[in-house]
Amino acid sequence: MGIFLKDINLKGKTALITGATKGIGRGAAIALAEAGGNVIAIGRNQMELNTLKKEIKKFKVNYTPFNCDVNDYKRMKSFITKLKKLDILVNNAGTNIPEPFLNVKKSSMETLLNVNTKAVFNVAQLCANRIISLKRKSGSIINISSIFGIVAGQKRTVYSMTKFGVEGLTRGMALDLAKYNIRVNSVCPNIVLTPRTKKYFEDKKYNKYVKENTPIKKVVTVSDVATAITFLASESSSMITGASIIIDGGWTAK
Ligand code: NAP
Repeated sequence: MGIFLKDINLKGKTALITGATKGIGRGAAIALAEAGGNVIAIGRNQMELNTLKKEIKKFKVNYTPFNCDVNDYKRMKSFITKLKKLDILVNNAGTNIPEPFLNVKKSSMETLLNVNTKAVFNVAQLCANRIISLKRKSGSIINISSIFGIVAGQKRTVYSMTKFGVEGLTRGMALDLAKYNIRVNSVCPNIVLTPRTKKYFEDKKYNKYVKENTPIKKVVTVSDVATAITFLASESSSMITGASIIIDGGWTAK
């Protein structure tokens, strides 16, 4: 790790990560464990939850998997309200169904509003209440947003609607939770190479398009996002709340 990140120590802290089985969530779980944090991983794929255990255990931290759909409020509530330790939430589970505005299906709208907005709100509320009732001295909630929570994109109306919602939620929560020393921030990546986006990058033209239109001339990686999440999770960012870290190599600065 670099000079800066070596000061980040999450020893004794416990982080809950939704959507920890793949992509950004998986990368965040591993990075937080590497920084010494205990990991509670939520996802729906048992095999991937088991594989993640092997990665996390290398760092000699506790690993608690929970196989659950984040939309299942009853099970999520029962699990979160019984946690013995909780300091950090990476509110990551989310998805996208790109469709032109005029043809957005009602089923796509339901899926995106449920996972990207309602579940994000519900999990954040449950975790914030738990951090407070456990009388932890501080907490950090990191909502995974997107550049489409900051700017618009073609065939991204519903996705943008949900991620702009995540941005509003982040700022509002930051104000309401400041008195408990719980900080709430978001990260807003441009397209990241993950299992969900792999199919786009297999198209050489798309790959070239992203690189050429990114001022830094690189594609955002899971590691870029996981590093920002780890920083926000740690005391190194103790005066940062209600903020959005844009991770896009300058894409939205143009
Ligand atoms: P991904 O590779 O598709 O992984 C999504 C993760 O979320 C998986 O672990 C999946 O778990 C979990 N998940 C999805 N729906 C769930 C549900 N209902 N209940 C529980 N877990 C659920 O996605 P990703 O690309 O890493 O995206 C993660 C987050 O980053 C999302 O919020 C996305 O909007 C945001 N983001 C992604 C990009 C990008 O380009 N990749 C860019 C900006 C923002 P299971 O498969 O085990 O169910």
